[in-house]
Amino acid sequence: MAASGGELLGLTADELAALMVDWGEKPYHGRQLYGALYRRRQLDPGSMTELSKSLRRKLESCVISLPRLQRRQRAADGTEKYLLELTDGEKVECVLIPERKRNTLCISTQAGCPLDCRFCLTAMLGFRRNLDPAEILGQVLYVLADKNLAIGSVGIGSRPALTNLVLMGMGEPLLNLENVLKSLIIMTDPEGLALSPRRITLSTVGLVPQIRRLAQAPVVPNLAVSLSATTDEVRDRLMPINRRYPIDTLLQACAEFPLKRNQRLTFEYVLMDGINDSDQDARRLVKLLAQLRSKVNLLPLNPGNANGLRPSSPRRVNRFREILTGKGLPAYVRRPRGMDIYAACGQLHLAAGHHSRATRTSRLDTNR
Ligand code: SF4
Repeated sequence: MAASGGELLGLTADELAALMVDWGEKPYHGRQLYGALYRRRQLDPGSMTELSKSLRRKLESCVISLPRLQRRQRAADGTEKYLLELTDGEKVECVLIPERKRNTLCISTQAGCPLDCRFCLTAMLGFRRNLDPAEILGQVLYVLADKNLAIGSVGIGSRPALTNLVLMGMGEPLLNLENVLKSLIIMTDPEGLALSPRRITLSTVGLVPQIRRLAQAPVVPNLAVSLSATTDEVRDRLMPINRRYPIDTLLQACAEFPLKRNQRLTFEYVLMDGINDSDQDARRLVKLLAQLRSKVNLLPLNPGNANGLRPSSPRRVNRFREILTGKGLPAYVRRPRGMDIYAACGQLHLAAGHHSRATRTSRLDTNR
């Protein structure tokens, strides 16, 4: 918890109340401070005029640190990618995806990623470190301020709203579970950022013990599982985590995940030419998911991904989708967003890159 001079961002309402008590103030000032930070998004203690002058002065000895913008790129389709620098110089990316009726922000939970999914450029970075709650929330606060966005299902007056949040940027959120859960509490608290948990989706490669812990968490977001194969043999090669949590074990944990009425699990399936896109794969996928209330997002592999992997042809993608939907499994082909600025799924790394593409290529070659 922040003492004098510490970071205030990322503290829960209870932690801020405890801080006030430590400072000899009334606990309700903690809730006032919490409202100022997240409801009104006042990040300068001087502007928190509902607090006493003496308390504002004390707060000036604390830090409220947003990430610093290094670069912002705008794609032809309006998608914007932010390269943000954290206080220790690490860099992460987040992506704002505008659509007709919604604006979705995709945020990162780790700098780099320790997992090694072969179709993902972030894997090239290797693992740098986990982001703390201030850094996870900082991405949201930065973009909200930059775009003057409201939060909720609709905008306010001429201000559009941030309607959806996805934890699908750099890193595996479930490897940073404590910090992610704390951030989710603040994001969804009506006195905090007040985003509905139904509008937040966490995407995982399928860490089974952590999926079970998430299922018991105070805030349970929508769960998206990156599956991308229908046999352990192929998934072992594409996503090494499968060797620890094979498909059956993973789907068992998914079957136990709590779902509200009308809620479905999402399975993401990156389609790669000749690897996982056959009719047989589609039929196997239907069988695997038969007992789950789920839908499938089909994502043709985006360009720039690891060597030797090619996107499935549009015809193959359609055929794959038809087999799924023909058997009653809802399936959608996801249009890649921000591809020209490397902002689409599995592409986050280049602007923040610490490693060259050649590094990745040679590492893959040795894995074959
Ligand atoms: S797909 Fe996700 S978990 Fe896999 S390497 Fe990329 S960022 Fe990490």
